[in-house]
Amino acid sequence: MSHFSSRQDDFKQSAYRRIYPLRVVGMALGALAIAGVLIDQHAAPWRWALMVVSCLLWPHIALLRARLSTDSYRAERHNLLIDSAIAGLWVPLMHFNLLPSVVLVTVTTFDKLSSGMHRLWLASLPGLFGAGLLTALIVRPPVQLESSLLVVLCTLPLLVVHTLSSSIGSYRLIRTVSRQNKLLEQLRRTDTQTGLYARDHWQEQADAALQRFHATGQPACLMMIDVDHFKQVNDTFGHTAGDEAISAMGQLIRGCIRTEDCAGRYGGDEFAVLCRNISPHEALGIAERIRAEVQMLRLPHHPDVQLSSSIGLAAAAPEFNTLQAWMKAADASLYSAKHQGRNQVADHLPPSPLGDCRA
Ligand code: GH3
Ligand code: MG
Repeated sequence: MSHFSSRQDDFKQSAYRRIYPLRVVGMALGALAIAGVLIDQHAAPWRWALMVVSCLLWPHIALLRARLSTDSYRAERHNLLIDSAIAGLWVPLMHFNLLPSVVLVTVTTFDKLSSGMHRLWLASLPGLFGAGLLTALIVRPPVQLESSLLVVLCTLPLLVVHTLSSSIGSYRLIRTVSRQNKLLEQLRRTDTQTGLYARDHWQEQADAALQRFHATGQPACLMMIDVDHFKQVNDTFGHTAGDEAISAMGQLIRGCIRTEDCAGRYGGDEFAVLCRNISPHEALGIAERIRAEVQMLRLPHHPDVQLSSSIGLAAAAPEFNTLQAWMKAADASLYSAKHQGRNQVADHLPPSPLGDCRA
């Protein structure tokens, strides 16, 4: 946990470095929008000076503040709140000129939302409106809502660049989220120890095969495979030998089945295989191959371990209305394989015209 949280802390603490170039560009474009209004209004030098300080110098001051602070994440949070207050301050200083005022307020609030910092946008509103109100009370500016062509032209770069960069940011975020969702789904589907499907995903596949059997009559077979006396393997050779055996079982089963089959780890030392579009005779052949290969299996790190397995087979049949019923039949076969002495395949199959393939 500490490793993960320290990486997360590093990421948070370096946020100001990622924000710095964005602030420099954003504030410069904001300065351009403000400059359009100031030119139009033949503004006094003090308003120009304030524009230079609040838009062009401020990003560097913000960087210094965050760098010198012991908690740079917190300092950057304050910087973002100050960005909003600066935008609020300029609304009355631009005599409420409609286009740049709306764009500045919208852009600064959007930035708070997209920062991902908890409720930052809400926290920024008092500063935004407070700074605007205070400045309005002190300066008592006239109201000039109309925007000249010059003001429109000076505001457009901020609008366009901000919209495009936000869209690129959203696009990247969506791509990352969908990549991570795919990875999560893959993890959910896979049993990491064996590389086989995890139980839930395997069951979904088996359920779909049973539905298909009822709808189209496409045959399918279930195989439940359980390692014999596996507790003894653990007790005699240790759990690492047991773990190696489980991984080797996964590899072995994958090597014995066809590409259209679907193998899963059902839990512990129990595995399940769904064979789609297969005759009972063929399924029995696959089960026999697995059984025989398990008996010959040698573990590279524990060569003294000898394994065997019992396998229960059940073909999809009209009486199996649910996957549970079908699996119960395969389990009953497995139970009889164990009961009859283990290291064998038992089935719950319709009689084959070709006879018993084990013969
Ligand atoms: P049976 O022939 O009746 O199946 O006897 P068994 O000893 O194999 O009995 P059972 O299948 O009930 O026991 C399975 C044991 O496998 C229980 C558990 O300790 C062990 N086991 C389950 N998963 C793992 C694993 O991933 N690694 C190891 N080392 N042991 C496991
Ligand atoms: Mg077992």
